[in-house]
Amino acid sequence: MDFRLNRKQEAFRKKFVAWLAENLPPDWDPSRFRNYDGPEAWARAYRDFQKRLFEAGYASMHYPKEYGGQGKTLMEEVIVMQTLASTCMELRVPGIIMHGMAAPTILHCGNEEQKRKFLPKIIDGTQIWCQGFSEPNAGSDVANVSTRAVREDGYYILNGQKVWTSFAHLSDYCILLVRTDPNVPKHKGLSYLLLDMKLPGVEIRPTTQITGGAEFNELFFDDVRVPVEMLVGQEGQGWMIAITTLMFERVLGDAVMGAAYERNIGKMLALAKETKRSGRPVIEDPIFRQQLAQGYIEVMALKYHGLRNLSTQVQGGIPGPEGSIGKLLWSEPNQRIFENAMGMLGPQSQIMSGSPWSVHDGFWQYGFLRSKGNTIEAGTSEVQRNIIGERCLDLPKDVSRAARQK
Ligand SMILES: Cc1cc2nc3c(=O)[nH]c(=O)nc-3n(C[C@H](O)[C@H](O)[C@H](O)COP(=O)(O)OP(=O)(O)OC[C@H]3O[C@@H](n4cnc5c(N)ncnc54)[C@H](O)[C@@H]3O)c2cc1C
Repeated sequence: MDFRLNRKQEAFRKKFVAWLAENLPPDWDPSRFRNYDGPEAWARAYRDFQKRLFEAGYASMHYPKEYGGQGKTLMEEVIVMQTLASTCMELRVPGIIMHGMAAPTILHCGNEEQKRKFLPKIIDGTQIWCQGFSEPNAGSDVANVSTRAVREDGYYILNGQKVWTSFAHLSDYCILLVRTDPNVPKHKGLSYLLLDMKLPGVEIRPTTQITGGAEFNELFFDDVRVPVEMLVGQEGQGWMIAITTLMFERVLGDAVMGAAYERNIGKMLALAKETKRSGRPVIEDPIFRQQLAQGYIEVMALKYHGLRNLSTQVQGGIPGPEGSIGKLLWSEPNQRIFENAMGMLGPQSQIMSGSPWSVHDGFWQYGFLRSKGNTIEAGTSEVQRNIIGERCLDLPKDVSRAARQK
């Protein structure tokens, strides 16, 4: 198996790198880790840049042309995504859930009208979408969703609450898991809706995180009327649709995360060279040297795991539960990388972005705090290990979960 780009792919990569160098936003400062203060400015920057990518023919390379994509291969999409992740990740973040989950759900499971209506607007940067799966009583056990959708005269009437909905405050639409039938086993009573966030009865309350930002929210629904045309697939298929699209998108996610983290290891190496502890350069300290080497090993494991899965998918294979390995390979090492960088910084680790004394514009402090959520979001580490145990290694089923699913 050869993971290197072929000559045509390498030529495409170089062309895109050259385009990107000329087309980053005029106010983009690569020395800052946060260029946009406040959610509105961030969302605007995302939309403008996505439009620019679209107009130049670099948005959603592998999506069919009739839905706004470029009709090219998954490899070209990966090349674009990896380059963006290692150059200007900040400009991608508000769109991660949308491109990673909403668009593939609509592409793989939506009807023709939904594909034509929504995909072009996602791809050209007009819309931002969020994901409304989790609820106060449905996180790891997402099949426990209790937000009710009752069908009545061509509408689903929604009542209930979602929580941890990232970017809901910036979003035009939401992919939503709801309960349409409370009288069947819980996995079978779920349905998948596309929700217009501007509908009357949708209330969004931002939640402040330990980083000080408020990127996720609580959502409340009070008799929200969603037209039945917004149902994806059939009523009762919500669980299968949610799982299928999650597995497809983890593959691309791992390859892209690998590129972003490789850049972070490079930054950590620079930090070790620049920083002194007790008068000695950190780079000479054996403990920090080991941490750097270990971080590099883990990022390479993620990178090659992502490429191996990608190669399966390019050859027509369907991704499976091994996606959980990728989730563990990006979330746990990322926490260690930021923890170790804070150790390198010593007392300077207390200085956040905005201070003239902050190192790398507070990148390490923000990342240290934000990475705490990595082992929770998109499924906790414990749950990923259960999936690997049960579905990759065929171990006996987790007893507590089996009991809850009855
Ligand atoms: C930064 C961030 C962004 C998020 N964004 C979104 C979003 O946009 N949309 C969305 O819908 N959700 C989002 N979430 C929610 C996320 O999906 C849930 O937090 C996650 O699924 C865990 O659910 P929970 O918080 O309810 O924890 P719980 O499920 O209550 O778990 C609590 C603890 O119990 C453990 N546990 C649970 N079940 C088992 C088991 N069977 N075996 C062993 N241990 C178990 C867990 O590992 C965890 O340690 C986000 C979360 C974070 C942190």
